[in-house]
Amino acid sequence: MPDASALSGPTGFVIIAPDLRCNNNCLYCYDKDKPQAIEDLPSLDEIVTRTLAVAVDSGLGRVGISGGEPTLRPDLPELASRLRQGGLGVSVLTNGRALRDRSWLEALVAAGVDHFHVPVHADHAGLHDAVTRVSGSFRETQEGLANILALREHVHLDLTLVHVIHAHNCNGLESMARFLLPYRPVYVLFSYCVIQAGSYEKYLDLMTPYAAVLPGLLAACDFLLQNGQAVYADNIPPCLLRGREHLCLDFQKANTLNIVGLKDFNLSESVEDAAMFQPLNAHERSYAQVCTQCAIKAFCGGLYQSYLAVTDSPEVIPYTAAEISQRLAARKCTS
Ligand code: SF4
Repeated sequence: MPDASALSGPTGFVIIAPDLRCNNNCLYCYDKDKPQAIEDLPSLDEIVTRTLAVAVDSGLGRVGISGGEPTLRPDLPELASRLRQGGLGVSVLTNGRALRDRSWLEALVAAGVDHFHVPVHADHAGLHDAVTRVSGSFRETQEGLANILALREHVHLDLTLVHVIHAHNCNGLESMARFLLPYRPVYVLFSYCVIQAGSYEKYLDLMTPYAAVLPGLLAACDFLLQNGQAVYADNIPPCLLRGREHLCLDFQKANTLNIVGLKDFNLSESVEDAAMFQPLNAHERSYAQVCTQCAIKAFCGGLYQSYLAVTDSPEVIPYTAAEISQRLAARKCTS
């Protein structure tokens, strides 16, 4: 079995999705459109062996166990423990509902999980539950987060919070920032909703122009930064965050945040291996025509094809070489 114990850093994730089942049914979730061979799940041995092999190949020292909802797997503590023993840091990307059971949370932490990544869809139950389409999910996620906070008093436990932005919640971002701040996560991630190209027509009502999102997003980020809270924006190209590129996870992804994926793990027997690797979801991304003029195109993840498909003019403004030179020179002067 590959040994990942020599790998050092948490500066990247091998994201695995051993099971696409979920107890939420989020409006925007594209996993539910995938052909799922649920009864044909990979064995624990296969998941561990292949995950460690990908970690060794990619040099990444951390795995993010995603889904679907990974806490639906009763063997999640064993999976976490074996990946930890294989030398990886272990993160769990969960809706947090199962963590309202303190003993289940403690079992995961005892197995080696030291980071939870939890989506929060709104600052109140009505909208959150409307997005997940599960009544009571807001309360259960809040109870799970409260348990994480309580346990964090005693053990090292990282928490990151993600808020997926779409047409139904894009007007409340500053209020959302106020709601998330008391959790003091490692960072807050505002993630513009990804509509996969293959199914975007079904989700058009979720899409909203970047221009409609940006003022509220920047105000929310300012509020968090002013309160000492790290925050990033995801799936928004750097040129739309001009002057605030430090917020732009897409930019950082291209530079430092390595993510390789086994997202379609449970289809592993039926698809080419290459199709399981989704750095930057590259197969879903593309560039606007004007991007060919952009001086930083090589460092930009581009835009989702779904966004380009429904937007006549995608609002992006290329960087010129002169602009980049001026900004680098200005930075040198101030450093
Ligand atoms: S490549 Fe295109 S989307 Fe990316 S920063 Fe440049 S203009 Fe913007």
